[in-house]
Amino acid sequence: TLGSFALYIIRRPGSFSESDVHLLQALANQAAIAIENARLFAEASAAGALRELDRVRTEFVARASHELRNPLASAKSLVETLLRPDLRLKPRDRMEFLEGINSACDRLAGIINDLLTVSRIEAGQMEMDLAAVPLEPAIMKAVGRFKYRDGASSFQVDIAAGVPPALADPGRLDDVLDNLLSNAVKYSPSLEPVTIGVRAGAGPWIEVSVADRGIGIPPSEHGKLFKRFSRVDTTEGRRVGGVGLGLFICKSYVEAMGGQIWASSVPGEGSTFSFRLPAAGPGDGPLTPAARDPGDEGVLQVGGEVGARVIIIDDEADMVKATRLNLEGAGFQVVTALDGRGGLAAIEAQSPDIIILDIVMPDADGLEIARGLRARPDTQNIPIVFLTARVQVSDELEGWRAGGDGYVSKPFSPSELTRVVASVLKRSPAARRQRRLRIIRRLERQLGRPQARP
Ligand code: ADP
Repeated sequence: TLGSFALYIIRRPGSFSESDVHLLQALANQAAIAIENARLFAEASAAGALRELDRVRTEFVARASHELRNPLASAKSLVETLLRPDLRLKPRDRMEFLEGINSACDRLAGIINDLLTVSRIEAGQMEMDLAAVPLEPAIMKAVGRFKYRDGASSFQVDIAAGVPPALADPGRLDDVLDNLLSNAVKYSPSLEPVTIGVRAGAGPWIEVSVADRGIGIPPSEHGKLFKRFSRVDTTEGRRVGGVGLGLFICKSYVEAMGGQIWASSVPGEGSTFSFRLPAAGPGDGPLTPAARDPGDEGVLQVGGEVGARVIIIDDEADMVKATRLNLEGAGFQVVTALDGRGGLAAIEAQSPDIIILDIVMPDADGLEIARGLRARPDTQNIPIVFLTARVQVSDELEGWRAGGDGYVSKPFSPSELTRVVASVLKRSPAARRQRRLRIIRRLERQLGRPQARP
């Protein structure tokens, strides 16, 4: 039973006629069918949506593991070959193998970064540092990163005269350009060059287009191009690696900068991806290094603090060894500890000039160690650089709030860490505190949290 009719005769005496009852029964049946249909339809759509979600997730996990597996497989096979005692490799081959391993690691880090970027975008954590950005240098820099393929020039650049700078976040603009150029190259098996055009439009807008003569995209697939985790289903497209996040990230960035992005394409002939950004006005100055923070700009030379004592506290022995060699190579004196307890003992014994501290260790929480050190008069001014695989904005905020002076995420390059250590050592305790507060405020803004006093 789905429901019932109740009928009363109020004014006139007597009962309902038989035809009244028939009519009501027909009406009740129709209503019951309609209600039941509506219920079944709601159930079916919910189940359909869930099934679709499940399908997207399964497909994504399969694709992401495949994409992660490829660079992992090449790194592993290169390392195993290098480790074979019976093979005598020429120094040039060894170098090539090591470069191959390095680039496989970069590819892995790139995929993981894209996944993290997507989760930040979804959490609404996207703050843009907008400034007047001239497009020609930005484009030439991006082109420089992929200049030649198999010896053929990959790009033609056509920038209209007198185009004003765009209002953009320079780092995010670089990401958008990198992505569109890499797709254009990736999905163009012929070596025909990709054309990048820039022109000023009414509005005033600055429009950038990236046109390739590659495999193209069937019209039926255009709708899903900018959706996350979606890849176009064509035989040629499937041959090329990708997780389907790049265009989603581009769209999110362009829109957060106040612009739009779109694509047009003819299968077999090529695709053009275009985006437009507002033109910068006279009041939009160029970005100063100070506005960008946490910049280590200007402190690029290592060696000013030769002999400074560094303690590294991290439970990953191989990484500690590599970091130690790099820091020693830059002139630092290094002591290492593989757990929190050992680390604290080393701090007591050595009174270091700076501490490099992991956050998640089996016996200790790096954040708690940092808070403890900040609370003691004899250790409160020793700089601490966190070295961690926790890379969400909220994790970083916690690190700075616990009294960090640097936050380096794994995987990192040893030269980057050495630079951060040197730059932190060059700041006075007061300058470090001010910088910490500035970064805490910026991260809080990014997370949309009220500005609490740390
Ligand atoms: P990915 O390249 O990692 O798969 P993207 O989000 O960058 O992810 O692109 C989504 C899909 O759009 C790609 O899988 C590809 O099928 C299609 N696509 C993107 N750019 C091009 C292009 N220039 N030519 C043809 N297809 C493209």
